[in-house]
Amino acid sequence: MTATYVRPLPTISPQNQVFWDGLKERKFQVPRCDSCGAWNWSPYPACRECLSTDQTWTQVSGRGTVYSFAIVTRAPSAFADIAPYVWAWIELEEKPRTMLVQANVINCDPYALKIGDPVRIAFEDVPGEDITLYKFEPAGHE
Ligand SMILES: [Zn+2]
Repeated sequence: MTATYVRPLPTISPQNQVFWDGLKERKFQVPRCDSCGAWNWSPYPACRECLSTDQTWTQVSGRGTVYSFAIVTRAPSAFADIAPYVWAWIELEEKPRTMLVQANVINCDPYALKIGDPVRIAFEDVPGEDITLYKFEPAGHE
């Protein structure tokens, strides 16, 4: 028996289709400026360094560190079965501009997680849906 997926799903649009298609291929992509090379997360129509509108979705390493986080112990009903869980800001390693990605950190003890811990991207295929979501997990986890 396949349970219906009850959590919110992202809205796919022509502007973000490349990103979501990349996740299915296990690639986390960030708009990179064609003019100055800056990475621009979260996606925005213009480069935050030079305001160029020429950007290309470019794969990043998927490695980062925990910048800040909260442990959710009283979750909305759709998430109650996974509580307690971690909602975090992850700082990607690509520089010079700091990129903070909001995501869950999975495969960890929420109460053992610390700011600065190394993490890496993790992919989750949504059961019954043609979509892949991104999470992070401790970098040492196999
Ligand atoms: Zn730029």
